[in-house]
Amino acid sequence: MEQRKVRVRFAPSPTGPLHIGGVRTALYNYLFAKQHGGDLIFRIEDTDSGRFVPGAEEYIIESFRWLGITFDEGVSFGGAHGPYRQSERRDIYKKYVKQLLDTDKAYIAFDTPEELDQKRAEVENFQYDASTRFSMRNSLTLSQEEVDALIASGHQYVVRFKIEPGEDVHVDDIIRGDVKINSSILDDKVLYKSADELPTYHLANIVDDHLMEVTHVIRGEEWLPSAPLHVLLYRAFGWADTMPRFAHLPLLLKPVGNGKLSKRDGDKLGFPVFPLEWHDPKSGEISSGYREKGYLPQAVVNFLALLGWNPGNDQEMMSLEEMVKLFDLSKCSKNGAKFDYVKAAWFNHQYLVQQPDADWAPAFGKVLAAQGIEATDEQMTEVVRLMKTKVIEYVDGQGNKKKRNISFASDLWPLTRFFFVAPTEFDAEDKFIKKNWKETSADEMRQLMQVLEGIDDFSAEGQKAVVDPWTEQTELRPWNAWRICLVGAGQGPDMYELAAFLGKEETLRRMQFAIDTLG
Ligand code: GLU
Repeated sequence: MEQRKVRVRFAPSPTGPLHIGGVRTALYNYLFAKQHGGDLIFRIEDTDSGRFVPGAEEYIIESFRWLGITFDEGVSFGGAHGPYRQSERRDIYKKYVKQLLDTDKAYIAFDTPEELDQKRAEVENFQYDASTRFSMRNSLTLSQEEVDALIASGHQYVVRFKIEPGEDVHVDDIIRGDVKINSSILDDKVLYKSADELPTYHLANIVDDHLMEVTHVIRGEEWLPSAPLHVLLYRAFGWADTMPRFAHLPLLLKPVGNGKLSKRDGDKLGFPVFPLEWHDPKSGEISSGYREKGYLPQAVVNFLALLGWNPGNDQEMMSLEEMVKLFDLSKCSKNGAKFDYVKAAWFNHQYLVQQPDADWAPAFGKVLAAQGIEATDEQMTEVVRLMKTKVIEYVDGQGNKKKRNISFASDLWPLTRFFFVAPTEFDAEDKFIKKNWKETSADEMRQLMQVLEGIDDFSAEGQKAVVDPWTEQTELRPWNAWRICLVGAGQGPDMYELAAFLGKEETLRRMQFAIDTLG
């Protein structure tokens, strides 16, 4: 067989916000396409009109724009295989439904939902298949005249796939190897519904993958049970030679406990499961997103790439370009990947500290504005420079207090308040204050104020040049008391840096206030 150009697709259904697992699927498709010089298609699978959610498609497109994952063709990108929205391809599917009917690979069934319910009530574990289809109301049991008459009188029907029982169906999966399923356990799946003149997911998916010349189907593990049916459909159409190769990605698992990652886990442990914030159009409920939470897109992409795959060494930080080089679909894990959200924050920290300090300003500015504080870009950049590598306390999934690096602009506020707000009181119970504000402190601070007053160059270096020699001469150790004056507690950056940020006047004012208050 001639070598075909690699063509893969990401084919979400617009039934709500894109789940973070879907983002990982799209990313793996992207990496695979790029490393083979292939194409990535963006297809919208919206044949289930009952589950359509307005805004979902736009949300998905916006998510990938933010993440920097680009498509070569598809909805909003154009291309030669369109339309790429399945609801706009009705006529195409009808032709292929007819092909299956004409070749006896499918049949028309008139059973109403009520009739099916009744069957299910009568027959335990009822399944519409080779063992039952001859006792149902369909084109296999009715005469051609009866079928025509029913259709002519407006009876709704579905088209079902006629699955021959007793055959081992093999799915050749790049990640899982040979997956075998006996056709007897499959039911005669509905491929088309006359009621809305639309195919179901299975038919539309196979027809489109064929027509769009898709070579590899890379998707979540939840689609593995559908794969044998898809193999049979390819065969029924006579397309077995160009059937795409399958790769079913590992599940994303809960960070704590067992089972699939769910939105509930995110809500409980405080992390988003969607790339962008989502406003549900029906319930009005707002679900948090990675973007709004303060994640950088590179960090999200890097974190997701490693959920189910790794480059085989301990390299963790990777640009998209590097991932394209290193990614290996066949080395993806079969086992589910635990969704380690603390690791996600770690990645964000790594990328945040790599970016120029000034780039934090817009996000930090918002955090400050929420506290009613206005600061210049220069001030914010300086605070970031001094504080970005500090650690913050958090409570983990088990309720334990732990420490982590600053991972979001919002982490900065509790650690940087004193840059913008002077202490107005001193906690008498604070251990640091108790230990470090001594009888002699007020006097020492008065002396230090005099020294500082005389300094013209109030930069950190300028102060150091004068104050360091003075402390040597006097053998005074004023640092901790000075920190109490300027910060009000035992935290913060280097004292010269802090004083330089506050400026001489504010530094002296805070010192005088502490002297007056603490005595
Ligand atoms: N429309 C399916 C979804 O929502 C596509 C599954 C597939 O990739 O075949 O994920």
